[in-house]
Amino acid sequence: MLLKIITLPGDGIGPEVTGEAIRVLEATAESFGHQLTLTEKPIGGAALQLHNHPLPDDTLESCRSAGAVLLGAVGGPAFNDVPTHLRPEAGLLRLRHELGVFANLRPAVCYSALEDVSPLRPEVVRGVDLLIVRELLGGLYFGQPRSTTGPPGDRTAIDTMRYSEAEIERIARVAFDLARLRRRHVTSVDKANVLDCSRLWREVVIRVSREYPDVQLAHLYVDSAAMALVSRPPSMDVLLTENMFGDILSDQAGSIVGSIGMLPSASVGGRVALYEPVHGSAPDIARQGIANPLGAILSAAMMLRHSFNLPAEAACIEASVASVLDAGYRTKDIAQPGRSTISTAQMGEKVLEAVQNRARIGDRMAV
Ligand code: NAD
Repeated sequence: MLLKIITLPGDGIGPEVTGEAIRVLEATAESFGHQLTLTEKPIGGAALQLHNHPLPDDTLESCRSAGAVLLGAVGGPAFNDVPTHLRPEAGLLRLRHELGVFANLRPAVCYSALEDVSPLRPEVVRGVDLLIVRELLGGLYFGQPRSTTGPPGDRTAIDTMRYSEAEIERIARVAFDLARLRRRHVTSVDKANVLDCSRLWREVVIRVSREYPDVQLAHLYVDSAAMALVSRPPSMDVLLTENMFGDILSDQAGSIVGSIGMLPSASVGGRVALYEPVHGSAPDIARQGIANPLGAILSAAMMLRHSFNLPAEAACIEASVASVLDAGYRTKDIAQPGRSTISTAQMGEKVLEAVQNRARIGDRMAV
């Protein structure tokens, strides 16, 4: 199979972690007999510096005609003072919008080898396997009007939270469909005691749920959901929520399972899907070779499964990540104090070797 992939390393640790994901993809493609074409394009601050725009036309057009897109991360303190529409994050938001990827899937799994790294007690975090389904193209991040007006010292800023019934309905369907492939439980997260958007959200989700009588539906206010996520995370299956709530809760989920560096994501719903680790550009650790590449590597596995319908190849990467963790290899973010750590590149190498070994011993049949 020909896998045509655009890579967008971006800023900060983006190039470091996507570099390792690409090496693992190359090893997987070779082991399973697929042909890979990888084309790198600039995005975010890197694109701003090269082309004066965080999403150059050429990058967008290349993504539109790709089989899938693998992104690292964008942003950083160097770009804090550029105008809003030129910020690296604006480039990423526009890419998501242009690709029409309205559903952001963020699985959070607690690997048994990492139970002792979570800030929660092992018995609280054991068995966590949840999926955050985050609406990605609406809410406060896209709503109009938005502005900052008035003279310095007396300014007013406005952001708008906006959702239509159609937008809520389509993301709810994604969550219910995915729940059917899991433990058949959806928790819809809103703030219906305060926000009109959330009241509409809840009403529409209940309406959609009637088409899925085999899936259980529960509702939580976002503040309660934040609490439930730390007090009883294994009880969560699919968490369905709007854009900003999903952004916040998924960082929290990352911390619960050991590190945000472990979390992959897939943004789907358009013709071309976008895969990226949940974390940002982590400027505090950029260029030190210590970033955890597993979120990016697991994003590549999601890409193989969702965009190229290659479940065995995806499972091979996922099993390889688990085996490397079981063998005790740790980047700094997932290491107990005093324990030895390996670099970003060494972690990528360990996963790559595990993929090659699995493929060599015929694990293709087993996964
Ligand atoms: P962040 O996710 O970059 O970092 C938060 C913390 O987690 C930091 O301490 C960082 O060192 C750590 N961390 C993140 N990824 C890690 C990894 N792979 N391995 C080890 N540790 C890791 O979030 P932030 O600090 O709030 O944001 C930094 C920049 O990234 C900002 O400019 C922000 O706008 C941007 N950002 C981009 C995206 C994206 O590109 N999708 C997402 C979130 C934030």
